[in-house]
Amino acid sequence: MNLILLGPPGAGKGTQAKKMIDALQIPQISTGDILRAAVKEGTEMGIEAKKYMDAGGLVPDSVVIGIIDDRLKEDDCIKGFILDGFPRTVDQAASLTDMLDKAGRKIDHVVSIEVPDADLLARLTGRWMCTCGASFHKIFNPSKVDGICDLCGAKLYQRDDDKEAAIKVRLENYHNQTAPLIDFYSSKSLLRSIPGTGSPDEIYAAIMAVVNG
Ligand code: AMP
Repeated sequence: MNLILLGPPGAGKGTQAKKMIDALQIPQISTGDILRAAVKEGTEMGIEAKKYMDAGGLVPDSVVIGIIDDRLKEDDCIKGFILDGFPRTVDQAASLTDMLDKAGRKIDHVVSIEVPDADLLARLTGRWMCTCGASFHKIFNPSKVDGICDLCGAKLYQRDDDKEAAIKVRLENYHNQTAPLIDFYSSKSLLRSIPGTGSPDEIYAAIMAVVNG
């Protein structure tokens, strides 16, 4: 089962992908998580990527395409994968098609999670993350102890690109560069749109209904 979760920043792609891992027994592949890990480790790629990420911009296609090409060849992707945050441009999508063609594989479903911009701004400015991968929201999903992760007890942090100025750039990039993928995958009859405004459980149920088709 090879899946793509498409949607603007803050649509809940990461949250949903994490819920799907156990049910489907396939890994979540988040280019954002891979890039943030590279930034944290201070690798050459991380140092380069940070400049774009902090400003809310997209990291160059060549970098993220290389990341995905390597990652999809790993053993845990044999039964499938959930792509979260990739592709984000039509060139990335075309490269993904080439990579999969070469490996005799294909995308099964592209699920587009739709959320209005006004909701996204509120979601992203209140988002607090943990290095363990958990994420919380000041209003919609507060941690039990303010600023502390419920799961591992570590201190929560706010992503640099969840500050308002960067969010505006990210939403603009989404509309200009990523939203065209809706037509791209629709023309291949792979796209299924679902509303991303319900509760996380409702959105999960809608995604699984698509996946279980
Ligand atoms: P995310 O965690 O998916 O919101 O990604 C965080 C940031 O990483 C984005 O704002 C981009 O700067 C960068 N990034 C993640 N995935 C991609 C991608 N597919 N193409 C370009 N940049 C990306």
